[in-house]
Amino acid sequence: MSRKEDNKVLIIPCSGIGKAFGSVGREAMYMVVEELRPEETETLCLSLLTLGDEEAKERVRSHPVITIDGCPKGCAEENVKSVGGRSVANFRVVDTYREHPELKVRSVLHLGEAGRKLARILAKKVASQVDTVKMKEEMTDG
Ligand code: SF4
Repeated sequence: MSRKEDNKVLIIPCSGIGKAFGSVGREAMYMVVEELRPEETETLCLSLLTLGDEEAKERVRSHPVITIDGCPKGCAEENVKSVGGRSVANFRVVDTYREHPELKVRSVLHLGEAGRKLARILAKKVASQVDTVKMKEEMTDG
């Protein structure tokens, strides 16, 4: 596949299993990949990286990556770094929550209306970052 055909930005959320902010991060990722920027982005399962999957590692090394972490532990960003990738931007759900403390997530399994709103605010930030990455690429490609 040529670079032109496969020049997507990878959006990788942390696994955050059992954590409400992890669920918000995954929801935000789906909003970006499926609704907001489906042509420009795709995702990759973080656990493939932690399991050492060679194809996943190669994709992370050869594509721009935006990581979404639930909390300051930064698991997605750290995992990408550990396999030689580089996230061009890292978002933390907790930071967006601090800006909107009124948006309380209902539970891990059911984000509720406020949780989905929080995810959408974050998803818009990520989508805007995707635009910045693509714009820089176009300038570099001439
Ligand atoms: S970044 Fe935080 S929420 Fe996400 S997997 Fe790591 S510890 Fe869990």
